[in-house]
Amino acid sequence: MSLLEGSVGVEDLILLEPLGEKSLLKNLQLRYENKEIYTYIGSVVISVNPYQQLPIYGPEFIAKYQDYTFYELKPHIYAVANMAYQSLRDRDRDQCILITGESGSGKTEASKLVMSYVAAVCGKGEQVNSVKEQLLQSNPVLEAFGNAKTIRNNNSSRFGKYMDIEFDFKGSPLGGVITNYLLEKSRVVKQLQGERNFHIFYQLLAGADAQLLKTLKLEQDISNYTYLNQEMSRVGGMDDASNFRAVQSAMSVIGFSEEEIQQVLEVTALVLKLGNVELTGEFQANGIPASGIRDGRGIQEIGELVGLNSEELERALCSRTMETAKEKVVTELTVIQAHYARDALAKNIYSRLFNWIVNRINESIKVDTREKKKVMGVLDIYGFEILENNSFEQFVINYCNEKLQQVFIELTLKEEQEEYKREGIPWTKVDYFDNGIICNLIEHNQRGILAMLDEECLRPGVVSDSTFLAKLNQLFSKHSHYESKVTQNAQHQYDHTMGLNCFRICHYAGKVTYNVNSFIDKNNDLLFRDLSQAMWKARHPLLRSLFPEGNPKEASLKRPSTAGAQFKSSVAILMKNLYSKNPNYIRCIKPNENQRQGQFSPELVAVQSRYLGLLENVRVRRAGYAYRQGYKPFLERYRLLSQSTWPHWHGGEREGVEKIMGELSMSSEELAFGKTKIFIRSPKTLFYLEEKRRLR
Ligand code: ATP
Ligand code: MG
Repeated sequence: MSLLEGSVGVEDLILLEPLGEKSLLKNLQLRYENKEIYTYIGSVVISVNPYQQLPIYGPEFIAKYQDYTFYELKPHIYAVANMAYQSLRDRDRDQCILITGESGSGKTEASKLVMSYVAAVCGKGEQVNSVKEQLLQSNPVLEAFGNAKTIRNNNSSRFGKYMDIEFDFKGSPLGGVITNYLLEKSRVVKQLQGERNFHIFYQLLAGADAQLLKTLKLEQDISNYTYLNQEMSRVGGMDDASNFRAVQSAMSVIGFSEEEIQQVLEVTALVLKLGNVELTGEFQANGIPASGIRDGRGIQEIGELVGLNSEELERALCSRTMETAKEKVVTELTVIQAHYARDALAKNIYSRLFNWIVNRINESIKVDTREKKKVMGVLDIYGFEILENNSFEQFVINYCNEKLQQVFIELTLKEEQEEYKREGIPWTKVDYFDNGIICNLIEHNQRGILAMLDEECLRPGVVSDSTFLAKLNQLFSKHSHYESKVTQNAQHQYDHTMGLNCFRICHYAGKVTYNVNSFIDKNNDLLFRDLSQAMWKARHPLLRSLFPEGNPKEASLKRPSTAGAQFKSSVAILMKNLYSKNPNYIRCIKPNENQRQGQFSPELVAVQSRYLGLLENVRVRRAGYAYRQGYKPFLERYRLLSQSTWPHWHGGEREGVEKIMGELSMSSEELAFGKTKIFIRSPKTLFYLEEKRRLR
C-alpha cells in the first residue's frame, strides 16, 4: 500500500505491516523490480544500486525536488539533499550526510548526486561558480589516485572520504575541506586476480603523449611494469586515455600549477619504475647472502627522474644502518628483505603522494574568513566488511563502522526526542542495543585492543603477532564480545572454524574472525630510515617534501605514531565533527554480486540490511509514534473523510484534523496532537485512513 500515486510497496519502511526482515526485504525487492530504487525509513533514504542509468536525475528533477516538501514526492537522494540544504540555509543548522554501504553499493555515486544537487541549487555568480567547479573537480582527481578496479566494483574507492562544504550566511558555497582515511596502499605493489592498480597508472600510460612519456622515462606498454597486473589492463566502459586528460584539466581547474602537475606525474612514474628494480642475491665472503641490483639502467633512470644519486638509492635499498648511541652498524639485506624494502618504499611514496594531493586540494578550496560559516559534511566511507580472511584493515574499518553505528543510534534517538520536545509531546524511553561495550573493547585508552597492539609494538624484546594474541586472550577471556580458540577451549566450546592465530569480535552487525598475522607489522608501518633519508636527498622538490623525517637534522628518535593510533584519532575527530551536526543518512545496498541491472538477491540484501541495522532503525523510529505529518498536508489529504471538513472547511488546520479524527472515533491512545503535526502511533491507523479514502 502506498501513499503516493504510482508508487509500489511502501515508500517508508516505518509503515511496513507486519514488520520483520522478510517483509522488509520483500518490499525492497518489489520496489527494485519496479525501478523504485529509493525507500525511506523516516528521513533516512535506502538506495539500492540500479546498475543502469535511470531517468530520474538532472536539472528537471532537481527543480522538482527543490520546490516540494519531503513526503510529497517519491523517495530520492535529492529529497535528502534538499532537506539538508534548506535546513542549513534557513534554520542555520550544520548538516552532515552519512553514506554507508558495502563496496559497489553506490556510495560514491550517491555522494556525487548530493554534491551536484547542492551545487545546482546554491547561489549564483561567477565567483560562486568557480568555487563550485573546484569542489566538483576534486572528484575526478581523487578517484584517479584513490580508486581502482576490484572484483566487486570497477571504480572502487580504496580510501574513506569526508568532505566539509562551507557556505556563507546566504547559503552560497565558499569552499571546503577534505579528510581522507586509510588508503589501501598494499594495492600499489600487488593486486588480486581480476583487479587493477590505482587508475592513475593506466591513465598515465594510455593518455600521456610521446613527449610526456619521454620526460617521465616511461614506455606506453603496460606489460613493461611489474606493479601492473598484466591480465587486467582495461576495464569495460572506462576510457583511461580520456580520463587522463580529464584529470589533468581537473587539476588545473582546482589550481595545481603546470609544474605541480608535472611533479605529481613524475612521482607516479617513480613508483612504477621502482617496481621494476630487480634485486638479486649474491654471497658475501662470509657466506651471508646480500642483495644487489640486477639491471643498473632502471635505477639510473630513477636517479635522473627525481635527481637522486643512483648509488645512494641502491645502498638504501640493499642495506640497513642501525644507529646506537656509540656507533653505526651497516647490515646487508637479504634479497627477500631488499624486495620488502623496495615495496615498502613504493607504498609509502604513493600513499604520501595521495595525502599531499588531498592537502594541495584543500589549500585551493580553503576558506579564509572569520565570519561564521555554515557547514555540510558528506561522508563516503567503507561499510562493514567480513571477508574470507580478515586482517588489520578489516579490523579498523569495522571499528569505524561500530563507531558510526553508535553515532547513528544516538543521534536518531536524540532527533526523535527533540522532535517530541519541539512538538510538546511526552517522550517514552526506547530500548535499543548499546554497542558502547564493543567500541570500548577496541578503543579503550589503556585496555583496548588497539592500545594492546601499540603496547606490543613498542615493547622491547621479542614481540610477534602471537605474543599480541596471547595478551588479548589473557585480558579478554571473560569479555562477552571477545572469543578465541583459547577462551573457547577454556569454556569447552569447540569451534573448528576458528584458527589458533585468530580472535573474534561480536560486532553489532555480526561476528567477525580476525587473523592476527601481520597486525604488528601493519600497525608499525615503519620505513627504514635509510630509505627516507635517501628520498629526502632527492633534488625533486615534491618527493623530498614527502619525507621530512629523512632530514638528518630533523631526525628525532621519537617514533611516529602507529597506524592504529592514527586511525583511532582521526575517527575520534570525525565523530566529534558528526556529533556537532544534524545527520542525514543514505544507506546503500548492492542487489547482486554481478554488477548487473534488474537482479535482486534476497540473501545478499539480508546480510547488508543487518550490517546497516535497518530493522533496528525502523524499530527505534516506531517506538513512539510511527507516523507524523504536518496539519496542513494531513488535512488536505483526509478532509474528504469527514462531513465537517468536506467540501469546505473554514477553521484552523489543527482543529480540522481534530474534527476528522474525532468523527472517525480514533482512540486517543493512538494519536497525539503536537504544535505543528499530528502523530500516529501505529501504521495500521494510517492504512485504515487510506482505505477509507480509497473507498470514497
Ligand atoms: P566502493 O566502496 O567500492 O567505493 P561504492 O559504494 O562507492 O563502492 P559506487 O562506485 O558508487 O560504489 O558504485 C558502483 C557502480 O554502480 C558505479 O560505478 C555505477 O556503475 C553503479 N551505480 C551506483 N549508483 C548508481 C546510480 N544511482 N545510478 C546508476 N548507476 C549507479
Ligand atoms: Mg566508492
